[in-house]
Amino acid sequence: MEDKKCFNCNSSEQDIPVVNLSYKGKQLWICPRCIPSMIHEPHIVQDSLNRAENE
Ligand SMILES: [Zn+2]
Repeated sequence: MEDKKCFNCNSSEQDIPVVNLSYKGKQLWICPRCIPSMIHEPHIVQDSLNRAENE
């Protein structure tokens, strides 16, 4: 089974609850610690999104 990890900080769902996101047709996961960054600093998160997109 796929290991669900925060796309931004790589925290595993084994360590912290993660939230499912849909982005450009892909399923991503983000932890609550990174959600404020995504809301307030999307340019920082965009790099991680691009990386996740290219995996
Ligand atoms: Zn995170």
